[in-house]
Amino acid sequence: MATLQIKQVVKRFDDTEVLKGIDLEVNDREFVVFVGPSGCGKSTLLRIIAGLESATSGDLLIDGERINEVGPADRGLAMVFQSYALYPHMTVEDNMGFSLRLAGVGKQARRDKVLEAARILQLEPLLDRKPKALSGGQRQRVAIGRAIVRNPSIFLFDEPLSNLDAALRVQMRIELARLHEELDATMIYVTHDQIEAMTMADKIVVLQGGVVEQVGSPMELYHHPCNRFVAGFIGSPK
Ligand code: ADP
Ligand code: MG
Repeated sequence: MATLQIKQVVKRFDDTEVLKGIDLEVNDREFVVFVGPSGCGKSTLLRIIAGLESATSGDLLIDGERINEVGPADRGLAMVFQSYALYPHMTVEDNMGFSLRLAGVGKQARRDKVLEAARILQLEPLLDRKPKALSGGQRQRVAIGRAIVRNPSIFLFDEPLSNLDAALRVQMRIELARLHEELDATMIYVTHDQIEAMTMADKIVVLQGGVVEQVGSPMELYHHPCNRFVAGFIGSPK
């Protein structure tokens, strides 16, 4: 089980309020997409959920437990970034197993976990390669693999496909949907791309200027946008 509640989350940097009281619920195993224009606060909200940034005020709850003071490593989350940040001198296997090594997991258990993630991501033939010998799509899969080995109950993705070309983005969208099925995990996915949001989400959260404009399924937003901004952004006919 992994439900997430966000209650009245405000974030201020100096005197600028970038999140203006966010209320949101993410259900167990839901695929939720935060979408909105550049600078609207998507990454800040995701980093607050991950524990990489603290909220100025407001609460976060996972399965009903307040986690504001819980460190990033103990929240049961794993984050996948846009820049893959793989270690260039390590093989794919070592990159994927590195966080387990840091956590003191033994060699055989680490190998088992990495092989399982490599199977899911079709990376088995590449385990001995270094990142520079991989394509962009393969690197992104390794970055996702690093998250999978930690068995998170919630995955956080921050624009993970924006460095890939259009054809590969389409393929990766399909792979992420399959991953969501196979892993039975809750996924929160940030993008500024409405097509990604419409094709991947169970639930879309439209953000603008640090405010949630609307929450709903792709069909609800398309057919019943609550205002002109949402209609324009989603591309609905009204
Ligand atoms: P998005 O991911 O939607 O593009 P961000 O969450 O990265 O937006 O940024 C939201 C706003 O907060 C932007 O105006 C950005 O400049 C500002 N911001 C983000 N991080 C910081 C920071 N560490 N210090 C000051 N301002 C920041
Ligand atoms: Mg961002």
